[in-house]
Amino acid sequence: MPPERWSWLGEPLAIDFANTVRRRGSDYTELLSSGADLRAWAQHEASRVPDPSEYASDIRLDEVRELRDAIFALLLAAAQHEPASPGIEKQVNAALAAVPLIPQLRDGAVELVAPPDCDPLDELLARTAMSAVDLLPSPALAYCDAPSCGQFFMRSRRDQRWCGPACGTRTRVARHALRKGS
Ligand SMILES: [Zn+2]
Repeated sequence: MPPERWSWLGEPLAIDFANTVRRRGSDYTELLSSGADLRAWAQHEASRVPDPSEYASDIRLDEVRELRDAIFALLLAAAQHEPASPGIEKQVNAALAAVPLIPQLRDGAVELVAPPDCDPLDELLARTAMSAVDLLPSPALAYCDAPSCGQFFMRSRRDQRWCGPACGTRTRVARHALRKGS
């Protein structure tokens, strides 16, 4: 049985969003290839984002993927301790400005509350952008550069270089093959 398509979800929201492109060898595979894919992703994230309508998911898919790419670039720059380009910041800022998320206390916890009349897809994008902004200063934010990975993850140790042991093994095997071949 193939692994469940969204089984890897569960990192901070912006990481789960950025990781919807997956590296296969040196190419990237698009996991949000239709509005239905976007809604399936949102369903798995239902505790953190609203359900975008079928119509909005279909007609605004390009816009969703553009913001995803911007968040990917923003997180990658942060993980590599480099500044993001002004164009990337502008895209993320636009998503944040589209829906003001107000911190509110609820039963002793802080929740970010969106205006009741906002569009669910705009809210989804704003919450994802907010999650990215929250992650930027985190020293745990990391990018796994192993072959066929290219995913963001949160380090559980300071010197953790790969998202999991399989990626470390794959990198060592690839390096070994490269040395033997040269
Ligand atoms: Zn990895």
